[in-house]
Amino acid sequence: MAEAESLPRETVFKELELWPVWRLQSARPPDTPAPEKTLTVTAEKNPDPATITGWDALHEAVNTCTTCKLHTTRTQGVLGVGDQHADWLIIGEAPGADEDARGEPFVGQAGRLLDAMLAAIGLQRGQNVYITNILKSRPPENRNPEPDEVAACLPYLLKQIELLQPKIILALGRFAAHSLLNTQESIVQLRGRVHSFQGVPLIVTYHPAYLLRTPIDKARAWEDLCLARTSYASVQLNQTSPP
Ligand code: URA
Repeated sequence: MAEAESLPRETVFKELELWPVWRLQSARPPDTPAPEKTLTVTAEKNPDPATITGWDALHEAVNTCTTCKLHTTRTQGVLGVGDQHADWLIIGEAPGADEDARGEPFVGQAGRLLDAMLAAIGLQRGQNVYITNILKSRPPENRNPEPDEVAACLPYLLKQIELLQPKIILALGRFAAHSLLNTQESIVQLRGRVHSFQGVPLIVTYHPAYLLRTPIDKARAWEDLCLARTSYASVQLNQTSPP
């Protein structure tokens, strides 16, 4: 007991998994006898992502976000990486173990294939390209994201799109496509067409992790990348040609 009393409050709260979500509402004056139930707590509110005005604040908000249960198991939030004025927005599913440790999306084996896919159409991570995921926190054991987690994280993606103003979006894999297009159609049905997300042309292709397991589909992914490149060129043309 004496040991527990010497521990700082923050340590105790962390041990009880009440930190930083919970705060004591009011301190009891010294020598006041404790009432039956002493711990009156109140939830600390996460800022509404829609009210965030810049990238730094968005990074901070994602890193301290406790809106869904994934904050209890992640190492850190993974907002995204790249050129904050990029025309190309690449959206994957969720951070894996490597991304959770490094704080950057697509840094593992799938990330190396993604870099090669981008290079095939003359793009490079960080140059006119911004990479992110639907979820900003790693699901434990890399399980599939759950609907409440997607709902909690989507406002961060919407804010990223607002700040970035991309000209083309590439959705990697079934999960990103389903979340963005609100559909259950298969990748086979979704690829080969130009979709739209908030007025931005969106192309669906295979997730690099799937392509690592199924290299035969790399040829189809190449077709998707070519479609994305063509769509991007026509957006640029429309924006530069006189009315
Ligand atoms: N897979 C994803 O969807 N995103 C990453 O960041 C890494 C692997």
